[in-house]
Amino acid sequence: MSEADGIVRLRQPIGVEYSWSAGPNATSHLSGLMNGKLIGKRCPSCTLVYFPPRNGVCPKCAAILAEDVEVGPKGTISTFCVVNVPFLGQKVKIPYVAAQIVLDGADISMQHLIQECEADEVRIGMRVEPVWKDRSEWGPTLESIAHFRPTGEPDAALGSKAGES
Ligand SMILES: [Zn+2]
Repeated sequence: MSEADGIVRLRQPIGVEYSWSAGPNATSHLSGLMNGKLIGKRCPSCTLVYFPPRNGVCPKCAAILAEDVEVGPKGTISTFCVVNVPFLGQKVKIPYVAAQIVLDGADISMQHLIQECEADEVRIGMRVEPVWKDRSEWGPTLESIAHFRPTGEPDAALGSKAGES
């Protein structure tokens, strides 16, 4: 093809549909999200609680994660990022905060949006709680939760066992 043909660029949308088997490890976690519950997994050896659960094996001691543990729903912000840069497909008004949240009873953090406060009010140690979408929108995804918001409780110290050796 040459520019003489009049076509120098062709836009061709593509997509791939696929099915994914969650497996026994993620099934209880994903089913929980469909029912308004936050289900992680506890390691029988080191007792760390993973939320979201990892790939079925504790990365610290290689034991198989078998025990379901309900965590949260409240949690503590362990770190965060203020997003000020607009990008294609953005759904949330900037500036907004994406935070790592350690849910109560869990030993690793998960990422979610912080809303219902100003971005410059967010801080490490801030206590937050989930705001679930309407029940009709719940699915096997953390997107069943619209965002997290401050609880108004005093800030908490992070006491995760994950950093211990
Ligand atoms: Zn372990």
